[in-house]
Parts: sequence; structure tokens; C-alpha cells
Amino acid sequence: MMQVQETLRGQDIKVTPQRLAVYSFLRGRKGHFSVEEIFQQVRARVPAISRGTVYAILENFTDKKLVHEIKIDFNKSLYEDAAKDHHHFLCHGCRKIFDVEMPGCSILRCKNVQGHVIESFQGYFYGICKDCQVAGKVKKG
Ligand SMILES: [Zn+2]
Ligand SMILES: [Zn+2]
Repeated sequence: MMQVQETLRGQDIKVTPQRLAVYSFLRGRKGHFSVEEIFQQVRARVPAISRGTVYAILENFTDKKLVHEIKIDFNKSLYEDAAKDHHHFLCHGCRKIFDVEMPGCSILRCKNVQGHVIESFQGYFYGICKDCQVAGKVKKG
């Protein structure tokens, strides 16, 4: 728990029970979570917290690059620990989101585009996942 507090302080974020609870939940956790899911989880620890507070905390954490906001699924925002640097694949068959790593991809090695300096890049890929192809639930191509 000390490490969590130090990470927050290191980003100039004032440590509150609400912020601690949100960051403790996301830190190192596998998966992608909506505001509602995070709210439900955190409420067990900090009963006084509201959805609006969770949303504001996530906005702040995103600004400070502690968490990534993923908008692969149209207007639904999902959040995850920013320590995991990867891209995302959304399956049209089962709607699952997969983490994908593309270390050899030339786009990811670009440092600037038409004179603009690139600080980060988030790739969203859409298609049919391995499981759905095997199950034959969705036709390829
Ligand atoms: Zn699938
Ligand atoms: Zn991810």
C-alpha cells in the first residue's frame, strides 16, 4: 500500500482514500474496466464514493498518465493501468478486448509525423478473435 501512495505523490496527486482505492484496484490488474465496474469494486472499500468522483479521479489519473483510457468500443471508455504499454483488438464476434503487442511494427517506432512529435500511440484493431474463428461462430473475411 505504501508504494501506491508514493506513486500518487510522485505525480503530484494528493492522496485521499478515494484515489487510493481507485488506483489500488487498477494497479497491475489484468483487464479493462468501465467507470461503472470500477465504481462497484471501489464502493466496497470506500462506501461514501460516488460515480462522479470515480469519473473525476479517472480523468485526473489519465491526465497524469497513471492509467490509459481505451475507447476501442465506440463511446464506451475503459481504463487500465498505464504501466502496461500495448495495443488493443476488439472481436466483432464475442466483443472481447484483447491486449496485443507489436514490437516489430514500424508505425510504433515513428518519432514524428509530418513534423509533429509523437509522444504516444494507441492502436485499435478490429476483427475476429482466435476463439471465434475456431468455434466457427463468425465467418472469416
Ligand atoms: Zn471473439
Ligand atoms: Zn489492455
